[in-house]
Amino acid sequence: MNAPRPRAAILVVGQGLAGTCLAWELERAGIPFEILAGGHAAAASLAAAGIINPITGRRLVKSWRFDALLPAARRFYRELEDALGVTLWHEMRVRRAFADERERRVLAEKRGRGELAPFAGADTAEGDGFWIEGAARVDLPALLAAARARWRARGALLETAVVDLAAEAGRYDLVIDCAGLATVRGGAFGFVPWEFSKGEMLEIAVAGLAPDVIFNCRHWVLPVGPGAAWVGATHEPGRADSAPTAAGRATIESSLGTLLAGRAYTVTGQRAGVRVNLPDKHPVAGRHPLVARLGLVNGLGAKGALHAPALARQWVNHLTEGVSFDAEVDVARFSTCNSSQASSR
Ligand SMILES: Cc1cc2nc3c(=O)[nH]c(=O)nc-3n(C[C@H](O)[C@H](O)[C@H](O)COP(=O)(O)OP(=O)(O)OC[C@H]3O[C@@H](n4cnc5c(N)ncnc54)[C@H](O)[C@@H]3O)c2cc1C
Repeated sequence: MNAPRPRAAILVVGQGLAGTCLAWELERAGIPFEILAGGHAAAASLAAAGIINPITGRRLVKSWRFDALLPAARRFYRELEDALGVTLWHEMRVRRAFADERERRVLAEKRGRGELAPFAGADTAEGDGFWIEGAARVDLPALLAAARARWRARGALLETAVVDLAAEAGRYDLVIDCAGLATVRGGAFGFVPWEFSKGEMLEIAVAGLAPDVIFNCRHWVLPVGPGAAWVGATHEPGRADSAPTAAGRATIESSLGTLLAGRAYTVTGQRAGVRVNLPDKHPVAGRHPLVARLGLVNGLGAKGALHAPALARQWVNHLTEGVSFDAEVDVARFSTCNSSQASSR
């Protein structure tokens, strides 16, 4: 028997953060779509803390295009809050402790050159660390659950897992692959030089944390509600399994004495997932260079909450006005690196 005719011209594959943001922008633009959500067996989005942090890493780098991406993300999630009736966006500050004297020097140099403004200005260094303003937490579990319920009620949610996207591309005008790690594991986008990194985090019960302060020193502690926080995350480049491990827990707990300043805590849960990156650390979106009916959003790395709204907007601008994808995120930037793989489809 033939598969039933699709109700929409566009199929979004995967209802993690990338697929959810994309489907929302399609809905907002009045573009009919269906979204394939085969469960969240290995969704990175459900292991993620949803932190948006302007300044990250041991080199204290301001995130790529942060000045433009932050207000766009804030607007996007606030609008979704209204549509979905759930709170998603929490404004936060980060108390960033120096891991060593080198970090203190790096801050002084970068602050002196104005590189970290306006998020870590001249007057923000004090004692053993400094304050980062303009951070946020996006409640990803709430976002995914509420969006899923909305599209289920509207008949746009397909609750099955499809493995042959090329076959689906024959049924729809456009299939946009937002399948995260599953995309990396094979298929039409095998020519993209995917990288990945496993991450784990702990859920803890702890009293006395300020609700709007993330504490960060190598790992972070993120308050998520009264008496509850998440702590993470580990980074294991090249590992692609999503199972929580005793070693991951031990790594995170080794930082907890410093991070919690001696507060008592109990571990109440543990999550793990796999981040997908590209070597240039930019996300990727756009049409397959040879199969125009196949598209992509992926490579959100450790900054999905910041990037996913902007990538979704690029897709809608492309579909409604024919705007080209930003060259620094366009999947076309990889089509010459392995053209035989790109053309094997
Ligand atoms: C421990 C950890 C902490 C993190 N913390 C942060 C953070 O604080 N801030 C931040 O911004 N980012 C964070 N990240 C990164 C963030 O998780 C990712 O950037 C983002 O979630 C990736 O979203 P995605 O939609 O691309 O992939 P995913 O969330 O993996 O979603 C892909 C979805 O597609 C589905 N799927 C796959 N194949 C199919 C198919 N054939 N049919 C139907 N569905 C399919 C999967 O089940 C899944 O639901 C963290 C990641 C980890 C692992």
